[in-house]
Amino acid sequence: MTRRERARALAERFPAAGEALLFYGEIAEFDGDLEDLRRLVRRVGPAMLRDAAARATPESLDAEPDGFFARVLKRRAPERARVAVTNLCPQCGHPPQCGVLRKEGDGRQLHLLCGRCLHEWAFPRAHCPACPETNEERIGYYVAEGMPHLRTRVCDTCGRYLHVIDCVAEPEAIPDVDEIAALAMDVWAVEQGWEKICPNLIGI
Ligand SMILES: [Zn+2]
Ligand SMILES: [Zn+2]
Repeated sequence: MTRRERARALAERFPAAGEALLFYGEIAEFDGDLEDLRRLVRRVGPAMLRDAAARATPESLDAEPDGFFARVLKRRAPERARVAVTNLCPQCGHPPQCGVLRKEGDGRQLHLLCGRCLHEWAFPRAHCPACPETNEERIGYYVAEGMPHLRTRVCDTCGRYLHVIDCVAEPEAIPDVDEIAALAMDVWAVEQGWEKICPNLIGI
């Protein structure tokens, strides 16, 4: 299943995040240059990004490496895990977009997925992915109704959160796409005063 197909399937299941998912499905499969991306955003992007598309130039990409256009253009296909206890991507140094649970032996191993290059790396479940906290009792999980394979993981010490996608419970999940479906949990988490570790490509 491609990211676009997964985004469409999730948009039907989770209509509250439908628009965000459909847009993400388009940009997640994007493969082209800045001109192509500007055209795509003008065609299907939200108003805020359409304005930015008019101003995006190769120079503005260098000036804003974490801006939408730079992030889409610098993305690479995901590679599979290498063990490292770091909460920054071992490939590029960027914070994680979300957590991913994958089958390992009889259990599940937590991985973090890089918000910039989509690299995945194994990470201890008891640690906070945003701060040096290693006390499991300070880490909490919240589950949204109707989304059994998504949980929101929060740290009481630093107040940051990220979503964790359980690919054992939902083998068809594609973590960076499924993360968008947790939009309602983002709204809830921000209301509770939590701050996301890394906004996703569409700014949520
Ligand atoms: Zn990375
Ligand atoms: Zn923390």
